[in-house]
Amino acid sequence: MPLVMRERPVPQPGPGEILVEIKACGVCRTDLHVVDGELPDPKLPIVPGHEIVGRIAAIGGGVAGFTFSQRVGVPWLGHTCNVCPYCRSGQENLCDRPLFTGYTRDGGYATHTIADANYCFPLPGDMDDAHSAPLLCAGLIGWRSYRLAGEGSALGIYGFGAAAHILTQVAVAQGRRVHAFTRRGDEAAQAFAKSLGAVWAGGSDEMSSEPLDAAIIFAPAGALVPLALKAVKKGGRVVCGGIHMSDIPSFPYHLLWEERHVMSVANLTRADAHEFLSIAPAIGVKTEITCYSLEGANEALSDLRNGRLQGAAVLVPQLRTLTESGLGVPDHSLD
Ligand SMILES: [Zn+2]
Ligand SMILES: [Zn+2]
Repeated sequence: MPLVMRERPVPQPGPGEILVEIKACGVCRTDLHVVDGELPDPKLPIVPGHEIVGRIAAIGGGVAGFTFSQRVGVPWLGHTCNVCPYCRSGQENLCDRPLFTGYTRDGGYATHTIADANYCFPLPGDMDDAHSAPLLCAGLIGWRSYRLAGEGSALGIYGFGAAAHILTQVAVAQGRRVHAFTRRGDEAAQAFAKSLGAVWAGGSDEMSSEPLDAAIIFAPAGALVPLALKAVKKGGRVVCGGIHMSDIPSFPYHLLWEERHVMSVANLTRADAHEFLSIAPAIGVKTEITCYSLEGANEALSDLRNGRLQGAAVLVPQLRTLTESGLGVPDHSLD
């Protein structure tokens, strides 16, 4: 169902919240799953988008550590309860009562959004707003997936989109050998992967040039799980980095035998974000983006769905055409 443009009054931040004037919001595959109704119990209507870069336009009561007009990033993890067993054991990514930006609270396909200040990050650095946006999810979830993949030097990445193009730069900078698996015959994606330092690129049904220590699957295709298990060595890990995947077909036990692992990555912790947001500029990570206006949100989603993007899509509200009155605040919401 396509998103619909709406105008609403500028929201005001409550205690602990900030109002963010959005400069850029990345378009993530998770947004497609939200829009397609593949994730349970979204807030409706919902404004999607969880790779938000903006400036603080108002600060609610009790917020410490932020200043007016400071540049901040708002990620997927929008709120956690702080009291459940997961929150209390350093696993807030698995919180029992979380809120997720652009899924269970309004996100960044808009000119303004309200965020819980405790889950926002200052974004210093030279990278411009639009190029920074994909770091907020593709970068962060990619980083968490990468850490869970372990220390091995031969790393496979299935699905060469926004997360993979960032993660490849990190892995190469850290001395890993990246093997990029794309849709069969997608020579543009394979060339893109090699241009970022991948030692091998090919179709997901091919075998890489060496056995892998670990593989990360970003494409939402369950059929890739047995293929990736086939490609990893004894003891190797297959990490599923997406929030939604088609069913995994049955496969012979010998693919899992010899202590191979299959695991998923869910969400992120704030510690992941602090770690990655300091590592990315140190490594000199660059993002490749295609910018769209807010009115272009449905087109951006469609381009992502159809594999027409190289790198990441980013919505830039200032690109929007001057159609609205200027009194309200347009956003894109799904009813
Ligand atoms: Zn919790
Ligand atoms: Zn995302």
